[in-house]
Amino acid sequence: MAQSSVFHRDLNAELPVIVSGDGSYLIDDTGRRYLDACGGAAVSCIGHSNAKVREAIKAQVDTLAFAHTGSFTNQPAEDLAAHLVARAPKGTGAGRVMYLGSGSEAMEAVLKLARQYCIEKSEPERQHIIARKPSYHGNTLGALATGGHAGRRAPFAPLLINVNHIDAPYPYRLQQDGESETDFALRMASLLDAEITRLGAETVMAFVAEPVVGASLGTQPAPKGYWARIREICDKRGVLLIADEVMSGMGRTGTTYALEQEGIAADLTTMAKGLGAGYQPIAAVLAAQKVVDVVKAGSGKLWNGHTYMSHAIATAGALAVQQVIEEENLLANVMTRGAQLKAGLGAAFGQHPNVGDIRGRGLFWTIELVADWATKAPFDPLDGIAMKVGAAAKARGVMTYPSQGCVDGVKGDHVLLAPMYTATEAEID
Ligand code: PLP
Repeated sequence: MAQSSVFHRDLNAELPVIVSGDGSYLIDDTGRRYLDACGGAAVSCIGHSNAKVREAIKAQVDTLAFAHTGSFTNQPAEDLAAHLVARAPKGTGAGRVMYLGSGSEAMEAVLKLARQYCIEKSEPERQHIIARKPSYHGNTLGALATGGHAGRRAPFAPLLINVNHIDAPYPYRLQQDGESETDFALRMASLLDAEITRLGAETVMAFVAEPVVGASLGTQPAPKGYWARIREICDKRGVLLIADEVMSGMGRTGTTYALEQEGIAADLTTMAKGLGAGYQPIAAVLAAQKVVDVVKAGSGKLWNGHTYMSHAIATAGALAVQQVIEEENLLANVMTRGAQLKAGLGAAFGQHPNVGDIRGRGLFWTIELVADWATKAPFDPLDGIAMKVGAAAKARGVMTYPSQGCVDGVKGDHVLLAPMYTATEAEID
């Protein structure tokens, strides 16, 4: 390829040029096929080049692309919102949906909406955000500040707002010998209670967390009982619960939202990757009726307009994606193929001396690599072992999502897998 004019993530990287997609495969300009076992970063989920989604997007292009939301709404935006609201977790109430262009923008929006809620409730002193150390909430400054990924925050630290971080359940390293799952869950949840007390109960606005941690820790679900206790604490302390389901939502863990499996609903939920499944750049915020009611009865407004909100082509494409997931009963396949993936990873790598942990849910799985299985000692971060594994897999034609997390100074090497909900038995093998 000629010299690139794109400002790539890595200006020194030489990247293959992808020219088409076909189900679980991406195809480059030399005809090479890559088995997409991670959907980019858990984005593509119904396969590449789905005919129904292509048709829906084409039909929308032929009628309306864009009408500014300062003056208009449009039918695909209304239809997608109605679809999402009708399937919102029990406890959301009717709710409303706001559209954004990326997961990071959705995070910025929920932080502002949480603040607006407190203002409308005449509780302006509520301004503290509590998040978790292992977390990733995006790249824009508010989202980056909310995330606890030390490596990604470091260069921009002087630009970040203050956010308070507590530990998240990470059984592999934090569960004590002899501690039951329930005791571990309650111990970890009690960190939120303690942090609210430390900051001053009347000053805390929101607690933000990923129901299943993604990029920073590698598909880490919480132990049973954690989320129910978190919900109780938030309710008791008047703190909004924000679930960042940008990666875990839209079926990735086997239910539309990962939090559904915990039997609770958040007050504000972000979603993005599986919403547009890579066909359109789109994200959304689902606001529970409790939040909508307070804002509507107050000023009625949130000053958070973005030019491309409710974009007609983006919402039409995302609606088609959600219809494919539902009409083709793909969540059942997520569970079946997820169980196959879990068993296969265990059989292939469970006894490997450099595999510390294999964890996940649905079609969202991670292998944690360690230098020494017995002591759980991590690899030297400078080794970049996860990246090397990812590069080796790519060289063999399999795309994974490797990452280096950072929890309390302990670097973790993770190789994340997020295959398509449409994946076949042979592809998972
Ligand atoms: N929140 C979570 C949980 C994510 O995993 C990500 C991206 O990986 C984001 C937010 C940011 O989304 P985006 O990259 O679309 O801005």
